[in-house]
Amino acid sequence: MITLFLSTKQIFTRAEEITILINKGAFIDVSGKVNDKVLLLESIANLKYIKDKSIPIQERALSLRPFQEKYDFLMIALMDKDGFTSSSLQGGLADLSDRGYFKKVKTLKTNVISDVIISRTTGEKNIVIVHPFLDSEQNFDGAIFISIRLSDLISLKNSYGPSNKGYTTTILDDDMNVIAGDFKGDYLQLKNNLINNNPSGVFFKKRNGDLHFIAFNKKELSNWYIITDLNISQYFFGTLASTLIVIFVFVILFLMIFKSFDVNKKIEIQPLLDSLNQDYLSGTYNRKYLEEYIKNYFKKEKLENHKSAFIILDIDNFKSINDELGHTTGDYVIKESADKIKDIFYENSVISRIGGDEFIIFIENIENDKIIINKIKSLLTLMNTSYGRDEKNVKISASIGITFTTNNNSTFIDLYNEADTALYKAKEAGKNCAYISNSINEPIIKLN
Ligand code: GH3
Ligand code: MG
Repeated sequence: MITLFLSTKQIFTRAEEITILINKGAFIDVSGKVNDKVLLLESIANLKYIKDKSIPIQERALSLRPFQEKYDFLMIALMDKDGFTSSSLQGGLADLSDRGYFKKVKTLKTNVISDVIISRTTGEKNIVIVHPFLDSEQNFDGAIFISIRLSDLISLKNSYGPSNKGYTTTILDDDMNVIAGDFKGDYLQLKNNLINNNPSGVFFKKRNGDLHFIAFNKKELSNWYIITDLNISQYFFGTLASTLIVIFVFVILFLMIFKSFDVNKKIEIQPLLDSLNQDYLSGTYNRKYLEEYIKNYFKKEKLENHKSAFIILDIDNFKSINDELGHTTGDYVIKESADKIKDIFYENSVISRIGGDEFIIFIENIENDKIIINKIKSLLTLMNTSYGRDEKNVKISASIGITFTTNNNSTFIDLYNEADTALYKAKEAGKNCAYISNSINEPIIKLN
């Protein structure tokens, strides 16, 4: 059904729209927003100044104020191991050791999105994300936490999907009570669907004579569900009234959905969701997928036996391609570079374009560094090429930064920072070469 939808020329713009809608809806983006904040919290927690216990906790907490303002957190706070907290708001010490979430975070070693907490002073509902600090023996040694207003997440979704297009988002707790949102439907029926289906997914449902697309997500959030409810007929008929052809095709689609699916049957939408992990231009994975992949990688058992490589490649002089030969050629060069990377790293690798002319290659379970280094050498040679002709001839090459997983890095950001430092060194050394993060003084491969 969805394939037919995508391959029908006249409706192609609408198909894009449904992708964008899912992409920008609460199902993906509101939880994405929370994930972004979790990653940011991890990187803030790694700042030396924040970790330095010789500086008073109030002073460290006050240094977080610029982050609070820049990233739109309600509050960022530091907590020592006895539950004394100082926040970016006033910096005064408060004893929070009796709070439930303090007791909870003390027992956990990873980020926790705690229950939705109702502020004692304003009565507002906030989501609190906590990142524990551990000492060298992995004992709890304090925490950093941020608070985000739930209403901010709701207004974020409202800016994407106005309700007059039949698009609503609701957040439910485990007992299916509405925490926030504007959906006034029958949650008991939804509850059965949620319990009987996978913990995350999508389904179509007929309500009040209309077909609804319902997406729910519990993957990242420990205690609550986000539900996106899209009234399909209202959304599409509202926006396509001016295009008779498109309405005609959509009516056919609508009838086919009715014919093929009974009300509670899940539709095959996985291919559409899979496409959300892809970078459309290069045909590699996108950054969100890679981050998710690496997060899961570090959750696997017996990691100490595995060594993996994290490689950043940035095309040299790519801007000149755009400037001299145009963006279409630039796009072509990105696609061709991705193909070269795929040709060389075809085994045990996750390849992703994380933006612009920058790619990351993550290779699992390396047995022999030499093989990887030889492959990088071949890749650098392949990347040495030129486009255009005569006076408009632009030469490009690639610079590479590499790091390996060790006991000291355990997140995407750790790996990224290490490999990026090596990449910076490669650029500084004249490009067209590769540096490895633990021996930054000399290149492992130099073609320039
Ligand atoms: P350096 O050698 O130091 O890496 O510099 P550079 O010229 O390669 O430029 P840089 O990496 O700083 O910037 C990459 C440029 O890529 C900036 C942006 O205009 C362009 N760009 C980003 N995304 C796309 C895209 O999807 N298509 C095209 N054609 N260009 C893009
Ligand atoms: Mg570049």
